[in-house]
Amino acid sequence: MAFEGLTSRLQNVFSKLRGKGKVSEEDVTAAMREVRLALLEADVNFKVVKDFVSKVKEKAIGKEVMDSFTPGMVIIDIVNKEMTELMGGSQAKLVKSNKPPTVIMMAGLQGAGKTTTSGKLAKLLQKQNSRPLLVAGDIYRPAAIKQLEVLGEQINVPVFSLGDKTSPVEIAKQGLQHAKDNGHDYVIIDTAGRLHVDEELMEELKQIHSVVNPDEVLLVVDAMTGQDAVNVAESFNQQLTLTGVVLTKLDGDTRGGAALSVKAVTGCPIKFAALGEKIDALEPFHPERMASRILGMGDMLSLIEKAQSNIDADKAKEMERKMRNAEFTFEDFLEQMDQVKKLGPLDQLMDMIPGMGKMKQTKDLKVDEKQMGRIEAIVHSMTTAEKQQPDIINHNRRKRIAAGSGTSLAEVNRLIKQFDEMRRVMKQFSDMMGPKGGKNKAM
Ligand code: GDP
Repeated sequence: MAFEGLTSRLQNVFSKLRGKGKVSEEDVTAAMREVRLALLEADVNFKVVKDFVSKVKEKAIGKEVMDSFTPGMVIIDIVNKEMTELMGGSQAKLVKSNKPPTVIMMAGLQGAGKTTTSGKLAKLLQKQNSRPLLVAGDIYRPAAIKQLEVLGEQINVPVFSLGDKTSPVEIAKQGLQHAKDNGHDYVIIDTAGRLHVDEELMEELKQIHSVVNPDEVLLVVDAMTGQDAVNVAESFNQQLTLTGVVLTKLDGDTRGGAALSVKAVTGCPIKFAALGEKIDALEPFHPERMASRILGMGDMLSLIEKAQSNIDADKAKEMERKMRNAEFTFEDFLEQMDQVKKLGPLDQLMDMIPGMGKMKQTKDLKVDEKQMGRIEAIVHSMTTAEKQQPDIINHNRRKRIAAGSGTSLAEVNRLIKQFDEMRRVMKQFSDMMGPKGGKNKAM
């Protein structure tokens, strides 16, 4: 996961500060020296680091901070606020034209994730009840058109394409017309990238720009490339006037420098962050939430939003009823796991819960995807009767399940024990709450 190194270094600095009843100017200076090093190591632009540290320091050695009861906490809060500011302050939303369709032009170097992001963005807009059209304008990269068509099919969004023999400018122009004729409210134009910024590329992008007059020009940059991503953004911005940046591959172990520098260096806000290859791994970028994540303080808001948009409310209610009535079976258990998986990779979810990001580094708490896969394999190896009445799973059945799932008897035993424990606790709750789960008898 991105920012891991930065987060743990900053947490070290903060834990030293947090415990202090009094903070001296020397303490602040020492802490800021470490913050500076941590940021430089995370590949944040040198000048950005310098400005950042001097701003934080100036505020941190103010009298109110020094005299406060919890100076350490106040300083952490200052860092949090400044980091939020550094990334743009508040969310920069996608523009919506009052004369639809809203035209979004995607730009970026080859491999940055432009085509994938175009598909993801279409999906996001579709979730908000919009009717986007994708336009396949990357005629140079082999298979880019096909890739977009496959993505479009997957999410049920039409893709406008004229093959790879028509010029991208013409494709963009006709694509826009097609969107107008067919009542689409957004047009997302995928354009060609190159391996490096070059004149030919810029010229073509400028021509497309002048023909479609986009409301948004989003530059897709690969966060893994660190400072390079920022340099790329700067050169694109000089030629094309970007309206926003999309940072991709934040799920990788990028050190995070690009996220923290790009706005400060180019003046261009990050509008979206991509955290995976899957079609729904794109999130609107919230500077305040990203700062919280970087500082290891979690991001409950994003987690709640994810849960709201992905979890089926009726199913959740039914599950709750079953839990209350202690009717919970292994089938329900599998379904719960599926629901959780819909929210995204586990380690990303853990990062959103305050304190969990750090905890997940401890050995005993390794709830990784692999382990989830083994648990699923065990449950899948049970017969329907076993899933519905776990009590019948005796020793012989356990041995069979272990063999069938390619796990060990010990693992099967552990899972069943945990499951029994879970049901016992649920039953206790349901007894306490009364048969209908209504009133608390003890009251
Ligand atoms: P394009 O040349 O800019 O259109 O790049 P593509 O959309 O083809 O993406 C290049 C590669 O990066 C593909 O293998 C994508 O699956 C991958 N990719 C794109 N976005 C992400 C992301 O957020 N995370 C990860 N891990 N991979 C991504």
